[in-house]
Amino acid sequence: MVKMISNNSDKQQQQILPCIQEIDGIDQLIVVSYVFPPEMAHRTNCFLIGDKGDKKLIVDPSPFSDEEYKRLVNTLKNSFEYTYTDIFITHHHVDHVNEVQKLAREFAIPIIISEDSYGRLLKKNGPDFFANINIKFAREGDVLTHWNGQDVKVFEIPGHDEGQLALAPESMTWFLVGDLIQGEGLEPGSRASTVVIATKEGDMKKYFRTLERIIRLNPKYLLPSHGMVLKSVAPLEKTLIHRIEREQQVLKLYKQGKTPEQMTKTLYKRVNKALWPLALENIKTHLKKLEQEGLLINKQ
Ligand SMILES: [Zn+2]
Repeated sequence: MVKMISNNSDKQQQQILPCIQEIDGIDQLIVVSYVFPPEMAHRTNCFLIGDKGDKKLIVDPSPFSDEEYKRLVNTLKNSFEYTYTDIFITHHHVDHVNEVQKLAREFAIPIIISEDSYGRLLKKNGPDFFANINIKFAREGDVLTHWNGQDVKVFEIPGHDEGQLALAPESMTWFLVGDLIQGEGLEPGSRASTVVIATKEGDMKKYFRTLERIIRLNPKYLLPSHGMVLKSVAPLEKTLIHRIEREQQVLKLYKQGKTPEQMTKTLYKRVNKALWPLALENIKTHLKKLEQEGLLINKQ
């Protein structure tokens, strides 16, 4: 059930971000962020996780503008009585890390991130990107805080981004999946949707493996970075089936001698052309996976 937390006056509300609790004890701030393409999503969930008196993580705070940054800080400081201990970053994409250094300095707290994401951010933004910030590298199995008294552990979930990390409690009541899948938007009629597996930092083979792994772990709820909480692993199963079907189509077109660009036109003809460059990335990572598996033979 969705529980609205902010019920201040109108003026105050303008300075406060929308906040809901779909899972007991996990606050979900909905932050306007730098998402491309904007028609697919333009908000990133900033989750606050950790039992009272324990470590309190701010997950993926990524405000798009100065005003949104101020609203975020105001909400963090005034809507809750938490003592924030760390910022946790799922992966290095801009809609998850914008202004993260500013926030880390503001609260004087460390950033927890994978070594891979850290390296990519320095490569993109220069060696001073995290100057004077305490960085802690997180790896599979690290316990970062507690939820309902249970260990909240780190899971490495490569595929969408090589260094992407997830979080989940021992009971598997929930699994914070980052951009492994998109949740349903807040707008009526929007559906859970697939994400881009780009050639640079993505890997379709690993994406398949990660999906299979989380489906096996069978968490009750999925907490995606974009959109609402998903109430089972069914959307992951659907995504996996969709990707398997897509891969078969790519293989068929490959055998007909089609280029990745021609495949995009054929397979995504009903999709908005603005999304074709992203679709092309998915096709290329499918081709790479097929090549790794030794299936790109018999080209006519
Ligand atoms: Zn994202």
